Amino acid sequence: MSTTVSAIPLSLPWYDEQEQQRVAQALATRTSGDGPFGRRVEKRLAEWWGAKHVLLTTSCTHALELALLALGIGHGDEVVCPSFTFVSTANAVLRVGARPVFADIEEGTLGLDPADVERCLTPRTRALLPVHYAGIAAPMEALSAIAGRIGAHVVEDAAQAIGSRYRDRAVGTLGDAGCFSFHETKNLSCGEGGALFLADDTVAARAEIIREKGTNRSAFLRGEVDKYTWVMEGSSYVLSDVLAAILDAQLDKAPEIARRRAAIVARYRSELTGWAGENGVRLPQALPDRTGNDHIFYLLFPDGGARNRAMAALKSQGVMATFHYVPLHSSPMGADLHGGRALPVTESVAERLLRLPLHAQLSSDDVGRVTDAVRRCLSA
Ligand SMILES: *Cc1c(COP(=O)(O)O)cnc(C)c1O
Repeated sequence: MSTTVSAIPLSLPWYDEQEQQRVAQALATRTSGDGPFGRRVEKRLAEWWGAKHVLLTTSCTHALELALLALGIGHGDEVVCPSFTFVSTANAVLRVGARPVFADIEEGTLGLDPADVERCLTPRTRALLPVHYAGIAAPMEALSAIAGRIGAHVVEDAAQAIGSRYRDRAVGTLGDAGCFSFHETKNLSCGEGGALFLADDTVAARAEIIREKGTNRSAFLRGEVDKYTWVMEGSSYVLSDVLAAILDAQLDKAPEIARRRAAIVARYRSELTGWAGENGVRLPQALPDRTGNDHIFYLLFPDGGARNRAMAALKSQGVMATFHYVPLHSSPMGADLHGGRALPVTESVAERLLRLPLHAQLSSDDVGRVTDAVRRCLSA
Protein backbone atom coordinates (compact mmCIF):
# COMPACT_ATOMS: atom_id res chain seq x y z
CA MET A 1 0.00 0.00 0.00
CA SER A 2 1.29 3.44 -0.88
CA THR A 3 1.84 5.59 2.18
CA THR A 4 0.95 8.82 0.38
CA VAL A 5 -2.69 8.05 -0.40
CA SER A 6 -5.23 7.99 2.40
CA ALA A 7 -7.75 5.23 2.95
CA ILE A 8 -11.13 5.52 1.24
CA PRO A 9 -13.86 5.35 3.91
CA LEU A 10 -16.99 3.26 3.43
CA SER A 11 -19.25 6.25 4.09
CA LEU A 12 -18.89 9.93 4.87
CA PRO A 13 -21.54 12.57 5.58
CA TRP A 14 -21.48 15.69 3.39
CA TYR A 15 -21.70 18.81 5.54
CA ASP A 16 -20.58 22.35 4.64
CA GLU A 17 -21.53 26.02 5.19
CA GLN A 18 -25.17 25.27 4.46
CA GLU A 19 -25.49 23.04 7.52
CA GLN A 20 -23.34 25.43 9.59
CA GLN A 21 -25.53 28.43 8.77
CA ARG A 22 -28.72 26.65 9.65
CA VAL A 23 -27.29 25.29 12.90
CA ALA A 24 -26.27 28.84 13.83
CA GLN A 25 -29.84 29.93 13.11
CA ALA A 26 -31.27 27.19 15.33
CA LEU A 27 -28.84 28.07 18.14
CA ALA A 28 -30.04 31.66 17.98
CA THR A 29 -33.72 30.69 17.88
CA ARG A 30 -34.51 27.43 19.59
CA THR A 31 -32.61 24.24 20.43
CA SER A 32 -35.30 21.98 21.92
CA GLY A 33 -37.49 19.81 19.71
CA ASP A 34 -40.72 20.39 17.78
CA GLY A 35 -39.52 23.91 16.86
CA PRO A 36 -39.52 25.84 13.56
CA PHE A 37 -36.87 23.65 11.85
CA GLY A 38 -38.47 20.41 13.06
CA ARG A 39 -41.90 21.46 11.82
CA ARG A 40 -40.47 22.61 8.51
CA VAL A 41 -38.54 19.38 7.91
CA GLU A 42 -41.58 17.27 8.82
CA LYS A 43 -43.64 19.23 6.30
CA ARG A 44 -40.99 18.93 3.59
CA LEU A 45 -40.66 15.17 4.14
CA ALA A 46 -44.45 14.71 4.10
CA GLU A 47 -44.80 16.64 0.84
CA TRP A 48 -41.79 15.04 -0.86
CA TRP A 49 -42.79 11.59 0.24
CA GLY A 50 -46.57 11.79 0.10
CA ALA A 51 -46.82 10.78 3.76
CA LYS A 52 -49.82 11.79 5.85
CA HIS A 53 -48.01 12.15 9.20
CA VAL A 54 -44.27 12.60 9.78
CA LEU A 55 -42.69 12.76 13.23
CA LEU A 56 -38.98 13.45 13.56
CA THR A 57 -37.35 11.28 16.20
CA THR A 58 -34.00 10.96 17.95
CA SER A 59 -33.12 7.88 15.83
CA CYS A 60 -34.59 5.19 13.62
CA THR A 61 -34.25 2.82 16.58
CA HIS A 62 -36.59 5.14 18.49
CA ALA A 63 -38.90 5.55 15.48
CA LEU A 64 -39.29 1.75 15.45
CA GLU A 65 -40.00 1.68 19.19
CA LEU A 66 -42.46 4.56 18.88
CA ALA A 67 -44.25 2.87 15.96
CA LEU A 68 -44.70 -0.36 17.90
CA LEU A 69 -45.87 1.51 21.02
CA ALA A 70 -48.34 3.64 19.04
CA LEU A 71 -49.73 0.51 17.34
CA GLY A 72 -50.22 -1.08 20.77
CA ILE A 73 -47.73 -3.94 20.33
CA GLY A 74 -46.24 -5.24 23.58
CA HIS A 75 -46.10 -8.14 26.04
CA GLY A 76 -47.15 -11.51 24.65
CA ASP A 77 -46.94 -10.32 21.04
CA GLU A 78 -44.61 -11.62 18.34
CA VAL A 79 -43.10 -9.56 15.52
CA VAL A 80 -41.58 -11.33 12.50
CA CYS A 81 -38.40 -9.62 11.25
CA PRO A 82 -35.26 -10.60 9.35
CA SER A 83 -32.12 -11.85 11.08
CA PHE A 84 -30.14 -10.19 8.27
CA THR A 85 -30.44 -6.65 9.68
CA PHE A 86 -28.96 -4.18 12.12
CA VAL A 87 -29.58 -4.88 15.82
CA SER A 88 -32.06 -1.99 16.13
CA THR A 89 -34.81 -3.88 14.30
CA ALA A 90 -34.91 -6.59 16.98
CA ASN A 91 -34.03 -4.32 19.92
CA ALA A 92 -37.07 -2.13 19.26
CA VAL A 93 -39.32 -5.20 19.45
CA LEU A 94 -37.73 -6.31 22.74
CA ARG A 95 -37.88 -2.80 24.21
CA VAL A 96 -41.68 -2.72 23.91
CA GLY A 97 -41.89 -6.13 25.60
CA ALA A 98 -42.67 -8.21 22.49
CA ARG A 99 -40.65 -11.08 20.96
CA PRO A 100 -38.78 -10.84 17.66
CA VAL A 101 -39.13 -13.96 15.49
CA PHE A 102 -36.41 -14.26 12.86
CA ALA A 103 -37.34 -15.25 9.30
CA ASP A 104 -35.05 -15.83 6.34
CA ILE A 105 -34.50 -13.43 3.43
CA GLU A 106 -34.82 -13.98 -0.32
CA GLU A 107 -31.61 -13.88 -2.36
CA GLY A 108 -32.88 -11.46 -5.04
CA THR A 109 -33.85 -8.50 -2.81
CA LEU A 110 -32.17 -9.53 0.48
CA GLY A 111 -35.58 -8.66 2.02
CA LEU A 112 -37.89 -10.87 4.14
CA ASP A 113 -38.85 -14.09 2.35
CA PRO A 114 -42.68 -14.34 2.39
CA ALA A 115 -42.55 -18.16 2.29
CA ASP A 116 -40.39 -18.28 5.41
CA VAL A 117 -42.53 -15.61 7.12
CA GLU A 118 -45.48 -18.03 6.69
CA ARG A 119 -43.52 -20.64 8.70
CA CYS A 120 -43.01 -18.15 11.54
CA LEU A 121 -46.66 -17.18 12.05
CA THR A 122 -48.40 -18.08 15.31
CA PRO A 123 -51.65 -16.83 16.90
CA ARG A 124 -49.46 -14.27 18.72
CA THR A 125 -48.04 -12.67 15.52
CA ARG A 126 -49.07 -9.00 15.69
CA ALA A 127 -46.75 -7.41 13.16
CA LEU A 128 -44.34 -8.00 10.29
CA LEU A 129 -41.22 -5.82 10.32
CA PRO A 130 -39.52 -5.97 6.91
CA VAL A 131 -36.19 -4.20 6.29
CA HIS A 132 -35.51 -2.54 2.93
CA TYR A 133 -31.87 -3.62 2.73
CA ALA A 134 -29.57 -1.34 0.72
CA GLY A 135 -32.62 0.80 -0.06
CA ILE A 136 -34.19 -1.97 -2.17
CA ALA A 137 -37.80 -2.63 -1.18
CA ALA A 138 -38.60 -5.97 0.45
CA PRO A 139 -41.38 -7.95 -1.35
CA MET A 140 -44.09 -5.73 0.12
CA GLU A 141 -47.04 -6.99 -1.90
CA ALA A 142 -46.69 -10.56 -0.63
CA LEU A 143 -45.85 -9.41 2.91
CA SER A 144 -48.84 -7.04 3.05
CA ALA A 145 -51.09 -9.84 1.81
CA ILE A 146 -49.93 -12.09 4.66
CA ALA A 147 -50.40 -9.29 7.21
CA GLY A 148 -53.86 -8.52 5.84
CA ARG A 149 -54.90 -12.17 6.03
CA ILE A 150 -53.89 -12.60 9.69
CA GLY A 151 -54.80 -9.08 10.83
CA ALA A 152 -51.21 -8.04 11.64
CA HIS A 153 -49.60 -4.65 11.23
CA VAL A 154 -46.73 -3.90 8.85
CA VAL A 155 -43.93 -1.71 10.22
CA GLU A 156 -41.25 -0.89 7.64
CA ASP A 157 -37.64 -0.55 8.75
CA ALA A 158 -36.84 1.96 6.01
CA ALA A 159 -33.67 3.16 7.81
CA GLN A 160 -31.65 2.80 4.59
CA ALA A 161 -34.41 3.60 2.13
CA ILE A 162 -35.05 7.35 2.01
CA GLY A 163 -35.86 8.13 -1.64
CA SER A 164 -36.60 4.52 -2.70
CA ARG A 165 -39.69 3.41 -4.59
CA TYR A 166 -41.64 0.19 -4.99
CA ARG A 167 -44.03 0.00 -7.93
CA ASP A 168 -43.98 3.81 -8.03
CA ARG A 169 -44.96 4.12 -4.38
CA ALA A 170 -42.70 5.67 -1.77
CA VAL A 171 -40.99 3.12 0.45
CA GLY A 172 -41.92 3.84 4.08
CA THR A 173 -45.54 4.62 3.18
CA LEU A 174 -46.44 1.05 2.16
CA GLY A 175 -47.29 -0.30 5.62
CA ASP A 176 -48.86 1.07 8.80
CA ALA A 177 -45.61 2.76 9.80
CA GLY A 178 -42.32 3.63 8.09
CA CYS A 179 -39.14 4.26 10.09
CA PHE A 180 -36.17 6.18 8.65
CA SER A 181 -32.66 6.91 9.89
CA PHE A 182 -30.58 10.07 9.57
CA HIS A 183 -27.51 8.52 11.20
CA GLU A 184 -24.30 9.88 9.69
CA THR A 185 -23.83 6.70 7.63
CA LYS A 186 -27.16 7.12 5.79
CA ASN A 187 -27.88 9.01 2.52
CA LEU A 188 -29.30 12.05 4.36
CA SER A 189 -27.93 12.64 7.83
CA CYS A 190 -27.83 14.85 10.91
CA GLY A 191 -25.45 12.75 13.02
CA GLU A 192 -28.16 10.89 14.95
CA GLY A 193 -31.82 11.19 14.01
CA GLY A 194 -34.83 9.49 12.53
CA ALA A 195 -38.38 9.89 11.31
CA LEU A 196 -41.62 7.98 11.72
CA PHE A 197 -44.17 8.06 8.88
CA LEU A 198 -47.74 7.11 9.78
CA ALA A 199 -50.91 6.81 7.74
CA ASP A 200 -53.58 6.58 10.44
CA ASP A 201 -54.74 9.73 12.29
CA THR A 202 -55.44 7.98 15.60
CA VAL A 203 -52.11 6.14 15.64
CA ALA A 204 -50.34 9.39 14.74
CA ALA A 205 -52.06 11.24 17.59
CA ARG A 206 -50.92 8.52 20.02
CA ALA A 207 -47.38 8.58 18.62
CA GLU A 208 -47.18 12.35 19.00
CA ILE A 209 -48.12 12.07 22.68
CA ILE A 210 -45.75 9.16 23.41
CA ARG A 211 -42.92 11.08 21.68
CA GLU A 212 -43.53 14.07 24.02
CA LYS A 213 -43.18 12.24 27.38
CA GLY A 214 -46.84 11.21 27.35
CA THR A 215 -48.08 14.81 27.23
CA ASN A 216 -50.29 16.67 24.77
CA ARG A 217 -47.63 19.38 24.37
CA SER A 218 -47.66 19.12 20.56
CA ALA A 219 -51.39 19.91 20.45
CA PHE A 220 -50.72 22.77 22.89
CA LEU A 221 -47.98 24.21 20.63
CA ARG A 222 -50.46 24.14 17.75
CA GLY A 223 -52.98 26.02 19.89
CA GLU A 224 -55.46 23.11 19.94
CA VAL A 225 -55.61 22.89 23.77
CA ASP A 226 -55.07 25.74 26.23
CA LYS A 227 -52.72 23.89 28.58
CA TYR A 228 -50.61 20.80 28.33
CA THR A 229 -50.59 17.87 30.71
CA TRP A 230 -49.71 14.20 31.18
CA VAL A 231 -52.28 12.10 29.30
CA MET A 232 -50.61 8.67 28.81
CA GLU A 233 -47.38 6.70 29.31
CA GLY A 234 -44.64 8.09 27.11
CA SER A 235 -40.97 8.72 26.54
CA SER A 236 -38.73 11.35 24.96
CA TYR A 237 -38.21 10.82 21.23
CA VAL A 238 -38.30 14.37 19.82
CA LEU A 239 -35.37 15.48 17.63
CA SER A 240 -33.58 18.67 18.74
CA ASP A 241 -34.14 21.64 16.42
CA VAL A 242 -30.33 21.96 16.08
CA LEU A 243 -30.29 18.56 14.34
CA ALA A 244 -33.48 19.33 12.40
CA ALA A 245 -31.64 22.41 11.06
CA ILE A 246 -28.94 20.11 9.63
CA LEU A 247 -31.66 17.98 8.03
CA ASP A 248 -33.23 21.07 6.47
CA ALA A 249 -29.92 21.74 4.66
CA GLN A 250 -29.57 18.04 3.76
CA LEU A 251 -33.01 18.10 2.12
CA ASP A 252 -31.80 20.94 -0.12
CA LYS A 253 -28.88 18.71 -1.11
CA ALA A 254 -30.98 15.54 -1.53
CA PRO A 255 -31.20 15.71 -5.37
CA GLU A 256 -27.42 16.27 -5.69
CA ILE A 257 -26.66 13.52 -3.17
CA ALA A 258 -28.91 11.14 -5.14
CA ARG A 259 -27.28 12.15 -8.44
CA ARG A 260 -23.74 11.61 -7.15
CA ARG A 261 -24.54 8.25 -5.55
CA ALA A 262 -26.26 7.05 -8.73
CA ALA A 263 -23.25 8.06 -10.84
CA ILE A 264 -20.88 6.09 -8.57
CA VAL A 265 -23.12 3.01 -8.68
CA ALA A 266 -23.35 3.26 -12.49
CA ARG A 267 -19.55 3.27 -12.68
CA TYR A 268 -19.23 0.34 -10.28
CA ARG A 269 -21.63 -1.59 -12.49
CA SER A 270 -20.00 -0.75 -15.78
CA GLU A 271 -16.43 -1.30 -14.55
CA LEU A 272 -17.10 -4.46 -12.52
CA THR A 273 -19.70 -6.42 -14.50
CA GLY A 274 -17.13 -8.22 -16.68
CA TRP A 275 -14.87 -9.05 -13.71
CA ALA A 276 -17.89 -10.24 -11.69
CA GLY A 277 -19.02 -12.59 -14.47
CA GLU A 278 -15.55 -14.13 -14.78
CA ASN A 279 -15.25 -14.69 -11.04
CA GLY A 280 -18.73 -15.92 -10.12
CA VAL A 281 -19.42 -12.69 -8.19
CA ARG A 282 -22.99 -11.35 -8.18
CA LEU A 283 -23.71 -7.63 -8.27
CA PRO A 284 -27.03 -6.22 -6.94
CA GLN A 285 -29.75 -7.04 -9.48
CA ALA A 286 -31.72 -4.28 -11.15
CA LEU A 287 -35.39 -5.08 -10.46
CA PRO A 288 -37.97 -3.60 -12.83
CA ASP A 289 -40.57 -2.77 -10.15
CA ARG A 290 -38.13 -1.11 -7.73
CA THR A 291 -36.15 2.11 -7.81
CA GLY A 292 -33.45 2.09 -5.17
CA ASN A 293 -31.65 5.04 -3.57
CA ASP A 294 -28.09 3.75 -4.09
CA HIS A 295 -27.54 3.44 -0.35
CA ILE A 296 -25.29 0.36 -0.52
CA PHE A 297 -23.40 -1.28 -3.36
CA TYR A 298 -22.41 -4.84 -2.57
CA LEU A 299 -20.59 -7.78 -4.13
CA LEU A 300 -21.78 -11.34 -3.45
CA PHE A 301 -18.79 -13.68 -3.68
CA PRO A 302 -19.16 -17.39 -4.47
CA ASP A 303 -18.08 -18.33 -0.93
CA GLY A 304 -16.98 -16.89 2.40
CA GLY A 305 -13.30 -17.63 1.80
CA ALA A 306 -13.22 -15.54 -1.39
CA ARG A 307 -15.09 -12.71 0.36
CA ASN A 308 -12.61 -12.67 3.25
CA ARG A 309 -9.59 -12.73 0.91
CA ALA A 310 -11.11 -9.87 -1.10
CA MET A 311 -11.86 -7.83 2.05
CA ALA A 312 -8.25 -8.21 3.24
CA ALA A 313 -6.81 -7.40 -0.20
CA LEU A 314 -8.94 -4.26 -0.48
CA LYS A 315 -7.97 -3.15 3.02
CA SER A 316 -4.30 -3.49 2.12
CA GLN A 317 -5.01 -1.13 -0.82
CA GLY A 318 -6.65 1.42 1.49
CA VAL A 319 -10.21 0.57 0.40
CA MET A 320 -12.52 0.21 3.39
CA ALA A 321 -14.89 -2.52 2.21
CA THR A 322 -16.91 -4.23 4.96
CA PHE A 323 -19.25 -7.15 5.50
CA HIS A 324 -22.91 -6.93 6.60
CA TYR A 325 -24.13 -8.33 9.09
CA VAL A 326 -23.44 -10.91 11.79
CA PRO A 327 -26.90 -12.50 11.45
CA LEU A 328 -28.89 -11.68 14.59
CA HIS A 329 -30.01 -15.29 15.11
CA SER A 330 -26.37 -16.36 15.38
CA SER A 331 -25.30 -13.52 17.71
CA PRO A 332 -24.96 -14.22 21.47
CA MET A 333 -28.19 -12.31 22.22
CA GLY A 334 -30.16 -13.56 19.23
CA ALA A 335 -29.22 -17.24 19.46
CA ASP A 336 -30.99 -17.50 22.85
CA LEU A 337 -34.14 -15.96 21.43
CA HIS A 338 -34.10 -17.93 18.21
CA GLY A 339 -33.38 -21.55 19.01
CA GLY A 340 -31.66 -23.67 16.40
CA ARG A 341 -33.70 -23.20 13.20
CA ALA A 342 -31.41 -22.67 10.18
CA LEU A 343 -31.86 -19.57 8.00
CA PRO A 344 -29.83 -20.74 5.00
CA VAL A 345 -30.03 -17.66 2.75
CA THR A 346 -29.24 -15.30 5.64
CA GLU A 347 -26.26 -17.42 6.70
CA SER A 348 -24.92 -17.75 3.18
CA VAL A 349 -25.36 -14.07 2.21
CA ALA A 350 -23.79 -12.82 5.46
CA GLU A 351 -20.68 -14.91 4.71
CA ARG A 352 -20.39 -13.83 1.06
CA LEU A 353 -21.40 -10.15 1.01
CA LEU A 354 -18.94 -7.25 0.77
CA ARG A 355 -19.93 -3.56 0.66
CA LEU A 356 -17.89 -1.08 -1.37
CA PRO A 357 -17.33 2.56 -0.35
CA LEU A 358 -20.29 4.72 -1.38
CA HIS A 359 -20.87 8.34 -0.41
CA ALA A 360 -21.51 11.72 -2.02
CA GLN A 361 -17.92 12.95 -1.61
CA LEU A 362 -16.24 10.00 -3.31
CA SER A 363 -14.15 11.48 -6.12
CA SER A 364 -13.84 10.04 -9.59
CA ASP A 365 -10.23 9.05 -8.78
CA ASP A 366 -11.39 7.26 -5.65
CA VAL A 367 -13.97 5.29 -7.62
CA GLY A 368 -11.20 4.31 -10.04
CA ARG A 369 -8.98 3.23 -7.13
CA VAL A 370 -11.82 1.09 -5.75
CA THR A 371 -12.60 -0.63 -9.05
CA ASP A 372 -8.88 -1.24 -9.80
CA ALA A 373 -8.44 -2.78 -6.37
CA VAL A 374 -11.57 -4.92 -6.76
CA ARG A 375 -10.44 -6.28 -10.13
CA ARG A 376 -7.20 -7.42 -8.47
CA CYS A 377 -8.60 -8.56 -5.13
CA LEU A 378 -8.97 -12.26 -5.94
CA SER A 379 -5.70 -12.69 -7.82
CA ALA A 380 -3.52 -11.11 -5.09
C1 LIG B 1 -29.08 2.37 10.46
C2 LIG B 1 -30.13 1.35 10.69
C3 LIG B 1 -30.95 1.36 11.84
C4 LIG B 1 -30.72 2.27 13.01
O1 LIG B 1 -30.79 3.62 12.75
P1 LIG B 1 -30.46 4.66 13.92
O2 LIG B 1 -30.97 5.95 13.37
O3 LIG B 1 -28.98 4.64 14.10
O4 LIG B 1 -31.18 4.23 15.14
C5 LIG B 1 -31.99 0.44 11.93
N1 LIG B 1 -32.20 -0.46 10.97
C6 LIG B 1 -31.41 -0.54 9.87
C7 LIG B 1 -31.72 -1.57 8.84
C8 LIG B 1 -30.35 0.35 9.71
O5 LIG B 1 -29.57 0.27 8.63
